[in-house]
Amino acid sequence: MLAARLVDAGKPLELQDVPVPDVEGDQVLVRVAGAGVCHTDLHLLAMPGGIVLPRTLGHENTGHIERLGPDATGFQEGDAVAVYGGWGCGACGLCLGGEEQLCDITKWISYALDGGYAEFLLVPHVRHIVPLEGLDPVEAAPLTDAGLTPYRAIKRAAPLLHGSSTAVVLGVGGLGQFAVQILHAMTGARIIAVDTDESKLKRAREWGADLTLMSDAEAAATIKEHTGGEGAQVVLDLVGENGTLALAAQSVARGGRLVVVGLAGGSLSYNFLAVPWEAEVVSSAWGSRSELVEVLELARRGHIQSRVQTYPLEKVNEALEDLEAGAVDGRAVVTPGAKA
Ligand code: ZN
Ligand code: ZN
Repeated sequence: MLAARLVDAGKPLELQDVPVPDVEGDQVLVRVAGAGVCHTDLHLLAMPGGIVLPRTLGHENTGHIERLGPDATGFQEGDAVAVYGGWGCGACGLCLGGEEQLCDITKWISYALDGGYAEFLLVPHVRHIVPLEGLDPVEAAPLTDAGLTPYRAIKRAAPLLHGSSTAVVLGVGGLGQFAVQILHAMTGARIIAVDTDESKLKRAREWGADLTLMSDAEAAATIKEHTGGEGAQVVLDLVGENGTLALAAQSVARGGRLVVVGLAGGSLSYNFLAVPWEAEVVSSAWGSRSELVEVLELARRGHIQSRVQTYPLEKVNEALEDLEAGAVDGRAVVTPGAKA
């Protein structure tokens, strides 16, 4: 089968012919229909860190079950499924509590085991499979990360998101498109979207943002102005650069919550003046399997929609370049299952 593999730091993914994996025990082989292209892939390309190379990337996947291991029950071959990617050990306290994505990160899909930029994806246990039940597999692929990650961040911040709250979303690309829709569907908060790209801000208004701002020197003051001088009860930083973190700290309200989701590697230095009184700074990492089930249900009922730009597997590097250039409208999705 064809697989797009990270072979060397800083080099484009290499298309290789690799064997179709054998299926044993509780494992499941999925024929990949959609594999979302994430900013994390760009970070991994630049700095593979602890990943043993070569490695097939792709951590937002959907497809159809090609083969079930002899001990994998609950599904039929041919079923359309989403693949939950926060693969943990399955045995530690976090995994047993349903928070597998917080387990040893090296077990995640596309880090320790091969991901979905390939014709087939070997899922190490059937518990990571979630039925799509009517959702379009290509459109659903981004829900497994770009939808799930902001969903968790917003759900955890829910007590702060009431009718007179404001939520600020910094970065309305792949994850931000879902963050705005999820805030709109699940909270009564006023939504302010901030980005550097006017076309993305236009989309954010279509998805339900009440106010959109260019990310510039005026942004923090404008947010204050629209919140009676207080700032936003919740700020989601989906970028994580020095600049967005600084804007987030300037925009959050007293007692509010600054959630860092983006992995751009920026820093926020702390002293008691760096954030308003009792504001919290927290990270949020991906989501749990039960949260993925919830996100899929939101999509099934039409509360959130995916906008996808598709690429055949052979053009995965083009998708990554387009993402890097900010030229993707919605989410880029590689479609290995589509006939070229
Ligand atoms: Zn991702
Ligand atoms: Zn674990």
